[in-house]
Amino acid sequence: MDLIPSFQVDHTNLKPGIYVSRTDVQGNIKIITFDLRMTSPNREPAINIAAMHTLEHLIATYLRNREGFKETMIYFGPMGCLTGSYLIVSEGKDENRYTPDTMKGIVIDALKFVESYEGEVPGTTPQTCGNYLMHDLPMAKYEATRYRKRLEEEFVSEYPKAVRPVSDDGNVFHDA
Ligand SMILES: [Zn+2]
Repeated sequence: MDLIPSFQVDHTNLKPGIYVSRTDVQGNIKIITFDLRMTSPNREPAINIAAMHTLEHLIATYLRNREGFKETMIYFGPMGCLTGSYLIVSEGKDENRYTPDTMKGIVIDALKFVESYEGEVPGTTPQTCGNYLMHDLPMAKYEATRYRKRLEEEFVSEYPKAVRPVSDDGNVFHDA
């Protein structure tokens, strides 16, 4: 079987940021998957699982209520490696509405929502969540602040590739 594209990214020098993971065109609709990389994989502790769960509930709540955005949102959820999240949006095939740069402001707003959130985390009852006791709002706030500052201070949106093809005369190809 082929190694899927997300496993071809070199994770050993990956910096926190917002990256386009993939773009899929289906008919007249473009579906863009963003990787929200919140920590440096394999060089920092991953986000603790309860904090990640709380981030999922709060950020999804924020994004699905944001006017002008919610109509185009498809999915938000955590990466299995607990170092970031996926955010999937749609736009017209010929639109160029969502890029890492335009997504940066939306994500920063979502993180500020987490940072200032008080009270019960939305959807944390046995009826509405599969593990409703596994939440940690203070640690979710800590991670939200840390990621927001990184996006504001050093914004990164280009992936290092694991292997770049090199021609016989030494040209390095940055795109396959
Ligand atoms: Zn849940």
